[in-house]
Formats: sequence, C-alpha cells, structure tokens
Amino acid sequence: MAPNPVIGRFAPSPTGDLHFGSLVAAVGSYLEAKCAGGWWLLRIEDIDPPREVPGSADRIIRDLEHLGMFPDEPVLYQSSRIHSYEDAVKRLMERGLAYPCACSRKDLPASGVYPGTCRNGIPAGKIARSIRLAVDNGDYAFTDRVQGLVEDLPASLTGDFVIRRADGLYAYQLAVVVDDEFQRVTQVVRGADLLESTSRQICLQKALGYKTPAYMHLPVATTEEGKKLGKRFQADPINQQNPAYAVYQALTFLGQRPPSGLSLASLWEWALQHWDSSLIPRCSSILPGKV
Ligand SMILES: [Zn+2]
Repeated sequence: MAPNPVIGRFAPSPTGDLHFGSLVAAVGSYLEAKCAGGWWLLRIEDIDPPREVPGSADRIIRDLEHLGMFPDEPVLYQSSRIHSYEDAVKRLMERGLAYPCACSRKDLPASGVYPGTCRNGIPAGKIARSIRLAVDNGDYAFTDRVQGLVEDLPASLTGDFVIRRADGLYAYQLAVVVDDEFQRVTQVVRGADLLESTSRQICLQKALGYKTPAYMHLPVATTEEGKKLGKRFQADPINQQNPAYAVYQALTFLGQRPPSGLSLASLWEWALQHWDSSLIPRCSSILPGKV
C-alpha cells in the first residue's frame, strides 16, 4: 500500500438485517474507497446490547459478501474495544476535558442543550451518573463532500455531551471516534442522518489529538411520510435472491447510471470503472421510487 492510503469503512449496528438504507451506505463507502485505490473496512457497532438483534451481525456480514463486498481487514467488533474507550475517557478526564455529571433526563432542559450544571463539580448530595465532554466554543465547521459546508456548533447544538452513559455503556460518538482513529480511517462515507453527529465527533477528535477524516454524507432513503427508511421503520431486508438488482438499485439511488441487466460481477466491474461521486444528489433525503 501507498504510505498514505485511503481507508474507508462501513459501520452498521447489529440492530436488524441489512436494508436498502444501509446498503446505500455500504455501496457508497465501498466505491469511494476502492476507486481511490484504498481499503474498505467493516466494523460492527455492537456496544448497545439492549438494542441488538441476536444473529444480525453475522447476517449483515454474510449479506454483504453475497452482494460482492468483502472487507480488506478482519471485521472489527466494538464489543472487543471497551478497554480503548475506557482509556480515552480516562485521558480526557485527566486533562480536564471531560467530567462526571449527576443529572438525569428530568434535570435537563427541553432544548436538549446541556447547561453545564456539573462542569465545576457535582452538586452537593448528588452522585455521578454519566461522563460528559467539556465542549468549548471552538469552530468545528467542515466541508462535506456531498452536503457542502456544515457549520454546526456543538456548544449550541448539544452543549457538553455524554461520552459514557449512566448505564455504564460508552456513547456512540466516543466509540466511533476512537475506532476511526484505531482503524486509520481517512474518509467517512455514511447516511446524512448522521450528519448532525459529525461536529461532536470532530470535537472529540480534537480533544483526543486525532486527525479528522474527510466526510461524505449520502442522502438517505425516506418513506412517503418522509421518515428515514431504516430498521426502526421495518424496512424490508435486501432481497438476497437478486443481489445484482439490489446493488443496481443502490447505485441508481446514488445518481449513477449503470446499464441494466448486468450480472453481479459485471455490475461491480462497471461501478469500479464509472463511480462518480459528483453525480450523488446534493440533498439529505430522497424517496427511493423518485430516483
Ligand atoms: Zn450534570
């Protein structure tokens, strides 16, 4: 590999089977990495056991293989990485960049922006529940390759946010940032439903002294009602009887114009030669039928 290789990744949570929305993110991240001569990694984000569906991690991996996508390194499971999240939180606390918080949901304002109640110490008589990152007023703007300039300010969007939850589990934001660094990820290609998380992740990267990868947030598939087409909305799993058609649909959704009727192998060959990210619709959601 080149000294500064492109590394992309697909990082599903095992909360159900692969559906159209996650397939779009898988195909987009795969082609964006492969067409740059890079690697594509797969990470299973299994750090929230109450939300997980038994067997779905294995089914997602198997379905991706069946659709022709094989990761360039062994699959990374976040459940095997808890000690690294622990270390990162410890490091942030030692440097005064994170602090314990005693607030429960009912203590928080309706705006969802944490007012900093415990920043200078836990109020008398209360006990620590979660750990929050002390967010500064810095500028965490970034230019997304599809969505353009994003100027979210974590300080006004969420305020100090939770990195270790009251139930002892590590927050999604923290685990993603620690693992993107660990896996040497240089580009994050995922659904635009995660766009709003990005400024918090950049904030964490800076606090931990990590590099910030390039970001590309793909439009997400929505239902007629405008809801995200995802596991929560019982989106149908990908039809594994016709993998070439599933990949064809994902490519079309992403603005590519593959010839119809190709075999799976020929379709991937076409996609690797013709992938053009400038054709991806510059929006955050699309109704699949309207493509
Ligand atoms: Zn608090």
